[in-house]
Amino acid sequence: MATLEFVGDEDGVLTGVKCCQVDERRKPIAGTEFIIKADLAFIAIGFSGPFTDSILKELDGKLTLNTDRRGSTNVVANDRDYKTSIDKLWAAGDVRRGQSLVVWAIREGRQAARAIDEALMGSSVLPR
Ligand SMILES: Cc1cc2nc3c(=O)[nH]c(=O)nc-3n(C[C@H](O)[C@H](O)[C@H](O)COP(=O)(O)OP(=O)(O)OC[C@H]3O[C@@H](n4cnc5c(N)ncnc54)[C@H](O)[C@@H]3O)c2cc1C
Repeated sequence: MATLEFVGDEDGVLTGVKCCQVDERRKPIAGTEFIIKADLAFIAIGFSGPFTDSILKELDGKLTLNTDRRGSTNVVANDRDYKTSIDKLWAAGDVRRGQSLVVWAIREGRQAARAIDEALMGSSVLPR
């Protein structure tokens, strides 16, 4: 199923959501449109990048950022040592790789923990 549009009354108040069936490539199938009655809609658009008006703004100029293919701003760090352009600041997970999957966040979190341990203590027994 795919959402096509919000439907409203003459005052612009939401009354429903127009949907349709989709094929295996998620393309709308003509003639399958239907309306689900609704008076409230929550838009779950997913992760769209770190808030640029918070810690990134505080570190403006010192932290190297890049823009991924979705247009999100991410923190630059490699997937070996996870170091950012600021000494003793590491980045892993969505903030580094952009919107992704929880398994990647777990993997990067574990690898970053080891990299941080190595950087601070000189060695680590944590798994990579
Ligand atoms: C709607 C939605 C659905 C998803 N569904 C799936 C799914 O089905 N399967 C899947 O594998 N993945 C899914 N994901 C992706 C998955 O949730 C992320 O890839 C994963 O959570 C990233 O983990 P993370 O630790 O890198 O970041 P996050 O989980 O975003 O953790 C970052 C944490 O840092 C905190 N934080 C931010 N700024 C500051 C600050 N200045 N000071 C202190 N704390 C701060 C935040 O509050 C947050 O708790 C989904 C994501 C969204 C948004």
